[in-house]
This record gives sequence, C-alpha cells and structure tokens, in this order.
Amino acid sequence: MLEDAGLQALREAARLSPDNLPLRRHLAEQLLAKGYLADAEAEFRAALVLAPKDPDITAGLAEAFVRQSAHSAALSVLEPFLATPGYPPRMGVLAARALLGEGDTGRAGHRYHEAVSRDPSVADPELAARLTAPPPPPPAAPAHAAPAYATPADAPSGAEVEKSKQTFADVAGMEAVKESLRVKLLLPIQQPELFAAYGKRAGGGVLLYGPPGAGKTHLARAAAGELGAAFVNVGLADILDMYVGSSERNLRATFDLARRNRPCVLFFDEVDALAARRSDMRQAHTRQLVNQFLAELDGVDQSANEGVLVLAATNAPWYIDVAFRRPGRFDQLVFVPPPDAAARAAILRILCRDKPLAEMDFDAVAKVTDHYVGADLKGLVDRAVEVKLQQSISAGRPIPMTTGDLLAAAQGVRPTAVREWLATARNYVLHANESGAWDELMPWIKGKW
Ligand code: ADP
Repeated sequence: MLEDAGLQALREAARLSPDNLPLRRHLAEQLLAKGYLADAEAEFRAALVLAPKDPDITAGLAEAFVRQSAHSAALSVLEPFLATPGYPPRMGVLAARALLGEGDTGRAGHRYHEAVSRDPSVADPELAARLTAPPPPPPAAPAHAAPAYATPADAPSGAEVEKSKQTFADVAGMEAVKESLRVKLLLPIQQPELFAAYGKRAGGGVLLYGPPGAGKTHLARAAAGELGAAFVNVGLADILDMYVGSSERNLRATFDLARRNRPCVLFFDEVDALAARRSDMRQAHTRQLVNQFLAELDGVDQSANEGVLVLAATNAPWYIDVAFRRPGRFDQLVFVPPPDAAARAAILRILCRDKPLAEMDFDAVAKVTDHYVGADLKGLVDRAVEVKLQQSISAGRPIPMTTGDLLAAAQGVRPTAVREWLATARNYVLHANESGAWDELMPWIKGKW
C-alpha cells in the first residue's frame, strides 16, 4: 500500500485506464522519483508492454533496476540500445552505474565519458568521482562498430586458481550459514560412505544470497580453505564477453580449470547476470550461454563435476530462473544476512586482530554501526588504520589503535543500502513464498528492519 495519497490516486487512475500510456508512464516516473523502486519497476514493465521500444521507458526501467542493485538486469534492458550509435546519453550513464556496480570500472568509465561528451547535462559528479577510468578510446574506433560491452583490449584474461588461507574461523557470526555449508559441502567429502548409503551423491550447488557486502565472497573463500580445496573466483566480467562464442569458450575453460584442480570450490559472483529469467534475455546468444552454464553444472556424466563444488552468489535472487534451482544445480538457497550487533563486534575483532591495539570495546562500536555490513566495517577499519598510520609516522613509533579511533571512523563511513535491499526483498518475496524457498529471509523482512 502506498502511503502517498497523490501516488495512490494516480495508481487508481492507471488501473481504470490501463491502456493510457502517458498516464502509466507518469505513474512509473513518480514512483521512481519517490523511491518506490519495485513498484516503479512493475509500472515501467507494464508501460513497455504498451510501447515496447520506448527509450524513456526503457531508461526508467533500467534506473529502477540500478537503484535496486540489479545491475545485470539493467544492462540486459539497455543492451539493444547501447549497440546502436547515438543512443540516449542518459542510458550511457545508467550503463556506467550498472557496470560500476558489477566492479567493471574500465567499461563504466568509457560509457560515462562517451555519454557526457555528447550531452554534458547528464553528468553525475558523484559517479564521475567513483570512476577512475581513462577517457574514452580515440575516435579511430567508431562507436557503431564497437560491441556492447567488451573490446579486445579489455576482454577477460580468464579466472585463476587460488589457495585460500582463510577458513570458517575467519568468518564471524553466521553460525547457521556455516553449518548448512558444512553439511552440504564438507560432509559429503569427509564421510562419503554415509552419503552413499542414502543414495545421495556429492554435488549440486549452493546459491548464497543477501545484501551486497554481507560476506558472500568471503564465506565462499573460507569454505574452500575449510575444505583444503582450491578456490576459483569467477567475476561476471570474466565470462560475459559480448563477442558471440567467446563467452561460451570462457565458461567451458572455467569449469575445466576447476575440474583440473579438484577438490575445488568454483565460485560465481553476481550470478544473476547469467541467470536472469531467461525470458528477459533478448539476445539469443545470452540464452545460449545460460543453457551452456546449466549443461556444465549438470556435467556430461555423473563424475564430471565430482570434487567440484559450485557456489554462486547474488544480491538479487528473485531474478534467478527456476531452471537454475532444479535438483543437482543450485538446489540449496542460503541467506547470508546482514550482521546483528554481536556479529558486527565479531567481524570488527577479526578485521583488527593483526593490528597494534589498545584495550578495545568492540561492542561499543557495534552499537553505533547499526545497518553496517561486513564490507562497511572493513571500510571503517581501513579508515581508522590510515589515520593511525599517519599519526605513527609523525610520532616515529607505532601508536596502538583505540576504540575511540574506530568510533571516529564510524562518523565518516555511511552504511551501504541494507535497508533498501531488505525493502526490495520484501516486495519480491513477501507474497511469493509458497514453496518455502525464502523461509530464512522471512524473519528479516518481517522484523525490525
Ligand atoms: P559480498 O560478496 O556479500 O558482497 P564480501 O564477501 O565481499 O561481500 O565482504 C566484504 C568484506 O567484508 C570481506 O572481504 C571481509 O573482509 C568482510 N566481511 C564480511 N563479512 C564478514 C564476516 N562475517 N566475518 C569477517 N569479515 C567479513
């Protein structure tokens, strides 16, 4: 129910004349402007049905996606426009935000500079400050010849094998999550007879989901260390090479790399980019890539993926196609929650453990960092360390860090969008939990947040 009476009236009017495009468009834009992101998304989608190729409506939908951290979904709606020369500059800026959200600073920078050079009014100084990319490529490479995202120069070089030194002892809190990973990942390897007796084979993947920065990657890396397994971390940029054909090659090579290094934890970050509901994917080759991903997960035969544990992470689990969740694929969903006060204190303790410290009151810091996730706390500690380092250099001796230093750093570090994430999650799953898939998330979206 919308609290805003004006919006409520607009929505009622749109309900009464569902084919009135200007009205629906206006409603969608108002919803977006007031931050009702999931509602705005639904309205823009409805408006797109009436006017399928409308660039403003598409840009609105992409913005709704970006603001919900659904970066890959944003890119997939922008993609057909971005491939055309002279596309609306606003779309370039949105693509830059989405690419940056996916950690692809280089391509984000190119998109941003290109868009602003055509229309300075779309400049976004805050975004520009986060982009450290070089200016766009020289005009020798005409825009219309460029593929949607990748160029040969920034094509992915492929994933690498890590040996993780971290174990579950390095992951604070999350006892329930660790326990469920232990059962899923570790016991089948440690006690294969027991599993065989029940006719279960090791294998099948786990999909970790939760707000950005809550520790999904950290947890996956620690699971590999706990198991003594190799760790292959595949970012989206490693795979989503928009040259037809080479993404498939990258994907095959990545699975083969993991298979050659068994036992191995193969981790796919931002898997929603691959798994966004397949009907949303306009490009045939993107669908093909998804199908190949599923085929690799299934393995050509029973033993193909033996010893390869596939973990994936997403901030937007509701975009994942049900085909990904079939038995033997990502058949287990695990929620990685934002940390409560006790978990925040434990994370701070881990983050500070190898630094020179005075006597610390981590609970006091945990108390003032409501809504901070692990990544925010890491930012906070890094900031405090920087200040301390400066002081130590001036003093010519190491000065131990104090609780006060952390409290001071907390003043300057804002929490990322956990609240916004939970509000979005709420919109998606509150009335869509018939299968019980979101049971773990329910207490959070119904609770104090
Ligand atoms: P996500 O993959 O969910 O976006 P990350 O795993 O990248 O988040 O978390 C960011 C950083 O926060 C990690 O590198 C780690 O230093 C810290 N962190 C997050 N959760 C924890 C935790 N439970 N215990 C210790 N450190 C954590």
